[in-house]
Amino acid sequence: MEFDGKVVLVTGGGSGIGKAIAAAFAAQGAAVLINDVSPSAAAVATQLGAKFLPADLSDPAAVRALAADALAAHGRVDILVNNAGFQTVAPVEEFPEEAWMKMIQVMLTAPFQLTRALVPAMKQAGWGRIVNISSLHGLVASPFKAAYISAKHGMLGLTKTVALEVAAAGITVNAICPAYVRTPLVEKQIRSQAAIHGISEDQVVDRIMLEPAAIKRLVEPEEVADLTLFLASDKARSMTGASYLMDLGWTAR
Ligand code: NAD
Repeated sequence: MEFDGKVVLVTGGGSGIGKAIAAAFAAQGAAVLINDVSPSAAAVATQLGAKFLPADLSDPAAVRALAADALAAHGRVDILVNNAGFQTVAPVEEFPEEAWMKMIQVMLTAPFQLTRALVPAMKQAGWGRIVNISSLHGLVASPFKAAYISAKHGMLGLTKTVALEVAAAGITVNAICPAYVRTPLVEKQIRSQAAIHGISEDQVVDRIMLEPAAIKRLVEPEEVADLTLFLASDKARSMTGASYLMDLGWTAR
């Protein structure tokens, strides 16, 4: 199988996109480490034959401990997928400072911390892959999502910078930028956008979420997993420092 003998760490691997990525790597023979803050991820790990590494990425010390635990599990991590994330929606003048700090820590600083901690073993192995799950909102904005969009834009800067630094060691670093994917995170956003705009949940999907998209359907988590596995494969060895849109044609106009 394509990823036999490879060790993969997927943050936020207990749900949605991360779960689909973890499942896809497990199906291709990888030793999968699933990090998540939610205890329900333990059952997902068991189901996939993966190891569960619980840690709250909003705590910098817990991220350092996670990196150490991930390295201890198999002696190295070959593929790091920075996927954990969440959304808080509020007008900027009401945006809670604590929510800003937490989002930047979980979605930008933790990916930096894990990259920093895991790159040395990848360099030693002469091979490595880092795939950062950014977002369409790493490239364009929508109102009321100041922290999320800032973190996702920052993640693309991190992707490019680290790609330049580690290329000579056989490590590639790329980002994936999906539009709306059918996951619990999006289902929660549909509910909160409906409350902010005072419209129904169906209207949020049709008029707000997919209004700028050419293809009028949500992306499935497995589509993001397919692209992640491609970027982690040797077929993608010439691809680094880039972000790959899966945006339903959103940015084509
Ligand atoms: P999800 O809510 O289904 O899964 C996210 C997972 O991250 C959950 O299991 C959650 O427990 C975990 N997580 C959250 N905070 C954490 C923390 N502090 N420490 C550790 N784990 C934590 O969401 P999803 O839609 O699968 O999102 C996954 C990633 O994809 C996120 O980074 C999100 O921004 C990105 N993304 C999602 C969409 C979308 O439309 N769903 C689109 C573009 C990008």
